[in-house]
Amino acid sequence: MTLKASERAMVPFVSVDNMMRLVHHIGIETFLADLAGEIERDFARWPLFDKTPRVGSHSDVGVIELMPTSDGQHYGFKYVNGHPKNMKEGLQTVTAFGVLSDVDTGYPMLFSEMTILTALRTGAMSAVATRHLARKDARTMAMIGNGAQSEFQCLAIKAVCGIDDIRLYDIDPAATRKCMANLEGLGFTITPCATPEEAIEGADVITVATADKDMQTILTDNMVGGGVHINAIGGDCPGKTELHRDIVARASVFVEYPPQTRIEGEIQQMPEDHPVTELWQVIDGTAKGRTSATEVTLFDGVGFAIEDFSALRYVHDKIAGTPFYIDLDLIADPDDPRDLFGMVRRSGASASWPKSA
Ligand code: NAD
Repeated sequence: MTLKASERAMVPFVSVDNMMRLVHHIGIETFLADLAGEIERDFARWPLFDKTPRVGSHSDVGVIELMPTSDGQHYGFKYVNGHPKNMKEGLQTVTAFGVLSDVDTGYPMLFSEMTILTALRTGAMSAVATRHLARKDARTMAMIGNGAQSEFQCLAIKAVCGIDDIRLYDIDPAATRKCMANLEGLGFTITPCATPEEAIEGADVITVATADKDMQTILTDNMVGGGVHINAIGGDCPGKTELHRDIVARASVFVEYPPQTRIEGEIQQMPEDHPVTELWQVIDGTAKGRTSATEVTLFDGVGFAIEDFSALRYVHDKIAGTPFYIDLDLIADPDDPRDLFGMVRRSGASASWPKSA
């Protein structure tokens, strides 16, 4: 005997395959621009959210993290890893999945792949920071680190900020060739570069997304000219940074959630009281962003739970009425809430139950 459908609460599940179909259905640039809007709207109501630094479990080779938050109506969390060595083993550096729930009942409303969604939201997040912090006349971006995140970063900056002149650099030329081929025909002017210096020459925006579980110096202070905006997103856990501290010292630093960024971001190199501005305050107008055309602005992006929450809610809204999800039999929900045992007994395994004496 099978269970009555009413005894299970079905949870929409978006698989990798369906996420890709949803992205094609919406259009990737529209998806990225929409997501940037969702993130901005959630950042503008930042004080409402329940916030905590993510919970990381570190090993010698990487980290596995849980990233929870709630706005009082919905609760979301993401499971995500970061393993720089994975790429050499043919695996992703970052993989993720997440859940969105109804705070009123505690029941999950969505279970989703988030490896692709994280790349989309990270691109959208850099674009939001760039829209608020880069010079308005910015036209060229240097993309340093041409791995899994890079194309999403470039497309988001184009969709949200209109920047379509891209200069690529990676220590591995094969990564640059891959990125260039993937972006072909998508409306960019692309210049592959042999050194980071060449890549950032004339760039108004520099996005750094390299992966190494170490304190790296991808950019040194003398490489960065006045007026540039930097998105440093690759340094996102303790002991993992990308910029020389002199750049951090000279720049105006903007962050997501300071208690998390001080542990994980570029500012982990600085004293604990190093001045930072929270990006949400620039978005809601209570703090200043860029104040001059010569200032160096730095978005020290580590990735915060609210961005994933925005992304999960966006996907939840977008899949309604589409074929881009399946119902997952995830929650046991007996008609009589106290009769969980009876539901199991009715499920057909009675032959194996002990007979009464
Ligand atoms: P990936 O492994 O696919 O790509 C990383 C690229 O960096 C590789 O192509 C590698 O050759 C290149 N690289 C390494 N050292 C370099 C150097 N010194 N100079 C130039 N290039 C160099 O990783 P990914 O998925 O693209 O992620 C990149 C980084 O971004 C990771 O550290 C990841 O943890 C981080 N990340 C951050 C966020 C966030 O929200 N801030 C989100 C996702 C990923």
